Amino acid sequence: MKRVAVFSLGWSLAGPPDKQAQEKAQVATLLREIGREKLYNPEKNWYPVDVDVRSRAFEILIKAAQESDLVRLIRIERVYSSEELQAAPLLEWRLTNQAIEDDYYTLHFYKEELPKGISFYTRDCEVCRAPLEQVRDLWVDTRLMGKRDLSLTYSFEIILSARLAQTLQEAGFTGFTLRPVWDYRKPYQGEPKLYQLVVTNILPPMASPPTEFEQAQRCDVCGTESRFLKHTHFWGRIQYYEETDIYYARQVLEQATDFNITSERFGMLSASHPLVIISQRVHQWLKANGIKGWDTRPAYLVE
Ligand SMILES: [Zn+2]
Repeated sequence: MKRVAVFSLGWSLAGPPDKQAQEKAQVATLLREIGREKLYNPEKNWYPVDVDVRSRAFEILIKAAQESDLVRLIRIERVYSSEELQAAPLLEWRLTNQAIEDDYYTLHFYKEELPKGISFYTRDCEVCRAPLEQVRDLWVDTRLMGKRDLSLTYSFEIILSARLAQTLQEAGFTGFTLRPVWDYRKPYQGEPKLYQLVVTNILPPMASPPTEFEQAQRCDVCGTESRFLKHTHFWGRIQYYEETDIYYARQVLEQATDFNITSERFGMLSASHPLVIISQRVHQWLKANGIKGWDTRPAYLVE
């Protein structure tokens, strides 16, 4: 795993001209010191810069960030090699587009042709708004899928093309069912073009420690608990964002299927959702079949 720091270098255009000229010169000097002088452009007042945490450039920029407001450490990203990803029995599966918006947005924001008297697709807690149960199929604008095979909705539902839904079933993968997704203009008519991937196998709780969480919330009315993976860190006095890793006890492999969800829910209570964990077999299959629109990171196993 490589850690890549994302810095922002720049100055405010609200300052007096002589101060701005001085800050511009300081930024140009820093870019030169880290070997990125080619990024310099007299028209620009800010520069996003990625550097390896183990590099000399990182040392220069983190020192500058401690001393000056011209340099900010935005976040550190964890980048996994394909060997690391291929060695992991279980991986977190993250979809990378939200082409299909959402049942709620589609039905309530596109006012023309609005069906009368339909309810939300989930039954939600009246106090915290956490979704408790899905009560009908999703209705969306299926045109937005285009030729994609995969999309997430704003409510973190996984949408599959009919082609992908069929091939996943034929491949014999375990731990999921499919639910039709209807076009909101003509629901429940004909063959569905899209399907919702409903992951049914729930993993036991993560091993924590070493998994670290923050911002835990609990609703006393419905009992829903939600949290975030720890992502707030400090480098000296500088606060930055870095998602930390997920760990399971090795025995989790006895309960894991090809598709799994975490028993933990993440995000704000009203938008809380589990993470999706896939087997190495699914990972290989998605790659071999050229399926686009996702990435993964390892879920680590501990004794
Ligand atoms: Zn609640």
